[in-house]
Amino acid sequence: MSAEPLSPEEPGDRDRPAAVQRPARRLTPVRTVPPPPTTPIVLPGRHTAPEQAPDPAPGPAAEVPATPEAHAARRVRETWDEVEPQIDELACWFAALLFSLAPEVRALFPARVTEPARRLLRSIVLPMTTVDRPDALRAHVEPLVREHRALGLRAEQYEAIGVALIGAMRRFAGEHWDAPTEHAWVRAFSLAAGPMEQAVRAAADPAVAEGTVVGHRRLSWDLAVLHVAPDVPVPHRAGQYLTVEIPQRPRMWRPLSPATAPRPDGLLEFHVRAVEGGWVSRAMVAHAATGDRWRLGPPAGRLGLDPHGTRDVLMVAGGTGGAPVLALCEDMARWPRPRPCTVFLGGRVPEDLTVLDRLQALAAEHPWLALAAVCEDDPLNERTLPGTLPDAVVRSGDWSGHDVLLSGSPAMIRATASALLVDGVPLDHIRYDPFAE
Ligand SMILES: Cc1cc2nc3c(=O)[nH]c(=O)nc-3n(C[C@H](O)[C@H](O)[C@H](O)COP(=O)(O)OP(=O)(O)OC[C@H]3O[C@@H](n4cnc5c(N)ncnc54)[C@H](O)[C@@H]3O)c2cc1C
Repeated sequence: MSAEPLSPEEPGDRDRPAAVQRPARRLTPVRTVPPPPTTPIVLPGRHTAPEQAPDPAPGPAAEVPATPEAHAARRVRETWDEVEPQIDELACWFAALLFSLAPEVRALFPARVTEPARRLLRSIVLPMTTVDRPDALRAHVEPLVREHRALGLRAEQYEAIGVALIGAMRRFAGEHWDAPTEHAWVRAFSLAAGPMEQAVRAAADPAVAEGTVVGHRRLSWDLAVLHVAPDVPVPHRAGQYLTVEIPQRPRMWRPLSPATAPRPDGLLEFHVRAVEGGWVSRAMVAHAATGDRWRLGPPAGRLGLDPHGTRDVLMVAGGTGGAPVLALCEDMARWPRPRPCTVFLGGRVPEDLTVLDRLQALAAEHPWLALAAVCEDDPLNERTLPGTLPDAVVRSGDWSGHDVLLSGSPAMIRATASALLVDGVPLDHIRYDPFAE
């Protein structure tokens, strides 16, 4: 398979709204700078916080948020729900406005801006929806700041991000946007971006690590196992993912989940499937080579297990989603008292089950681990159960008292989570990191 060239079109042109498309190759993508928000963006430490939203008094039946922060967070959630169906167009506008305000940010993005702009946009809006809950806000800020630093954002660029965000929202929210809504968004942005800006300013450690590809084994035309030796061990936990950037696809960061629990030598193992039309996964499978230098972003993710948890564990993994599950099982094998755990590993064909042998070896050695492999299309069915993962899981038992971790494609996660919820598993027992946004 030959490497496809980087898109010859101008960054994001295909996705960019007509009003901001350009005829020639230039780096600044909009002709006009958006008007600033009517309420100034105020990042703590530089000015004072904005005043309370000048909302009209709510009617007697309306629920009054307890604080200005709660009001702002609620308004942000409501408006965001309205625009999210247009997230790709919104993200392109946001990026175009941002590049016009801070042209140097353009260089941090790849040719096609939609996916990273969408990611940046979500990473800004998410903490804005929690500005009324300091613990939740703090929990969001730390990993997001690491992600922003890995992207290369600087503290002084948050103000431009805020202006671009408000400008893009103003255009896409339509009838859902008015002065009180803009005030609420500005307030929420100021409250959420302030701690991010301060954390970026204060950070002293390097934002990304580098590592060398020391192994590349192709399992099939669309699957490969890669080993990367970081220059210094990356401090991740089993089950977390890292964002990575490869030399064949500069600035196109993608999350990958190591298939091994952290090792003393720091070696990372990745199982990669090339998705159809995929820019980075195809390059990783077909063109990555030993000696390549990869950049490794910060670890993140919701898959993890508390050694002191009292519930038994169910893990359900589809395809390369088996990688973090293997890492978690390897990690548990080191605990003094591992939690009883059942793993369902599924795929369309047996070749998809890249971690099956390793999990089988662990299960043979450790009585706390039970394993079932599931294949939709396995003519021999010697080692696997027939059918789909959700069917096989709910057929096999009552999981309502288990902690459940799901790993794999969004479709598999949606189907499995729905089946388990119907079967009586409480929502707060289920955790997942879907393998796409
Ligand atoms: C938390 C997390 C952990 C991940 N861990 C791994 C891992 O360990 N191994 C691994 O191989 N991948 C993993 N992924 C997926 C990976 O990050 C990329 O999304 C995937 O490789 C596709 O990137 P691409 O650049 O090739 O595709 P893009 O060029 O971004 O997309 C091309 C097309 O493929 C579709 N697409 C994107 N992602 C997927 C997907 N996962 N499945 C099917 N279609 C897709 C897009 O919608 C688009 O139509 C993980 C993703 C997340 C969010």
